[in-house]
Amino acid sequence: MTVLIASGPMHRYTTKDSFSQSSPSPTGRGRNVFSSKGTPIRASGTGAAGQDTHLLSWASGIAAGLFATLFPSDCRLCGSPLINISRLPVCVECLAAMRPIAGGLCSICGERLISPFAFAAEPVQSAVESGETRCGLCRRLEPPYIKATAYGSYDGGLRELIHLLKYNGVRPAANVLGRMLAEAVEDLQPHFSDTEVLVVPVPLHARKARQRGFNQSELIARAAIKLKTAGGHFQLSANLLERSRETTSQIGLSRHQRRENIRGAFRVTKPDEVRGREVLVVDDVFTTGTTVSECARILRRAGASRVYVGTVARTLKTEAQSAIRDSETEIRLAMAAAG
Ligand SMILES: [Zn+2]
Ligand SMILES: [Zn+2]
Repeated sequence: MTVLIASGPMHRYTTKDSFSQSSPSPTGRGRNVFSSKGTPIRASGTGAAGQDTHLLSWASGIAAGLFATLFPSDCRLCGSPLINISRLPVCVECLAAMRPIAGGLCSICGERLISPFAFAAEPVQSAVESGETRCGLCRRLEPPYIKATAYGSYDGGLRELIHLLKYNGVRPAANVLGRMLAEAVEDLQPHFSDTEVLVVPVPLHARKARQRGFNQSELIARAAIKLKTAGGHFQLSANLLERSRETTSQIGLSRHQRRENIRGAFRVTKPDEVRGREVLVVDDVFTTGTTVSECARILRRAGASRVYVGTVARTLKTEAQSAIRDSETEIRLAMAAAG
């Protein structure tokens, strides 16, 4: 008996021919089907056996599901119809609008320097000569990491794309976000020594990881490393950090209170693997930097020689208010997702 496959894997859709053979119906019903050898067979001409009809409707169901996955009708961000084949339901225009952060940034934490004279409290000339431009916070208290880099501002489409991954489980988004992270990490390249850099995603608490089914930071880190394997420069160490304590909401807390709130939430599971190593801490978003700073602090305490931070997005000064609103939205979304 010939097993009918109404819809093959993705590559079957990649030629124009397979498009022209299909019926206008997006469900795949009545379209040409393929035998396991790939020979087109008319669905209506495969004999009268009830078994075949049953198989056909079963196959059509699969085709419909696959079609919905491969050809989502609209962009999840702007709602315009999608024309390109992609596992990610986001249109090219929306993706192209996610631009890297531009303008003067703090050389340590990546915060936007509101005016070019933001560091004028120090003699401007020496700051310029050393090529260093620090924000007020980094001048007052040196972070436990060498430098934090982020691809884009945490707003608009980029924020929505991160939410698609985190709260809607659209995993293919991690590939795009990983590409952005890889681009951001390029800025750190001159700082890295020749040795291999340990990549450590910020962990979720075990309970949250079970709820979500994945750690978005780990997926993003994996995707980024895949793009950067050429020199074998990066080594993922996903279980090096553990979130041993669940933290309460950071909303409404002062910077100091946030630090206290998160202190002791993480643990280095294998200190032997950290000693003397350069570490890149990866997270999806840098909001106030409290989380990544705490990770950096305990990694340093465990003996890491230098710690860097790479995130896909960062809240920037002018967006501070919307960031607070956004984290409130995130909590509501997270609570809804947790049921
Ligand atoms: Zn769009
Ligand atoms: Zn700074």
